[in-house]
Amino acid sequence: MGTYRQITCKQCGYTVKVKQGPSVHMFGEMMRQKQEILDNRAQYPEAAYYLEHDGKIGCAGVYLCAKCKEFRDLDLIYIMKDYYAHSIDSTEEEAMYPFEKPFCSECGTEMKFIFDLEAENLRCPKCGGEIKAPICLWFD
Ligand SMILES: [Zn+2]
Ligand SMILES: [Zn+2]
Repeated sequence: MGTYRQITCKQCGYTVKVKQGPSVHMFGEMMRQKQEILDNRAQYPEAAYYLEHDGKIGCAGVYLCAKCKEFRDLDLIYIMKDYYAHSIDSTEEEAMYPFEKPFCSECGTEMKFIFDLEAENLRCPKCGGEIKAPICLWFD
C-alpha cells in the first residue's frame, strides 16, 4: 500500500506528483527479495544483518536528483537499517542500506533518498522555497 503526494512550492510554483510505498505487485517482489537475502547471507551480509535486527525492507521511495533539481519516485528495493530509530535522529544515509543504487532516469546521476517529504528542512530544489507535500491519492 502506498500514497501519492503532490509536492508544491509556494514560492516558484514547482509541482510534481510522487509515489511513496509499494504497490501489491512490488510487495510480492520485496518479500521474495527479503527471502533471497536471508537465504544467501554470505552474499548479502550487511542486508541480512539489518533485516534480522530493526531493519525493514521497503520500496517505491522518493529521491532527489541534485543535477536535474527534481524529485523523482523509483520502485527500488531498499533496507531501512533501523526503522524505529530513523524518525527520531538519523540521516537518510545512516538509515538506509541501498540494495540498488538510485540513478536518475534523465541524467544518470545518483540521487539522494528522501525519507520524509514533510521534514521541515526539506526545500524546493528549484528555488529553495518552502514546500508542501500532502497526500493526494492512496493506492494498493
Ligand atoms: Zn520553488
Ligand atoms: Zn537527473
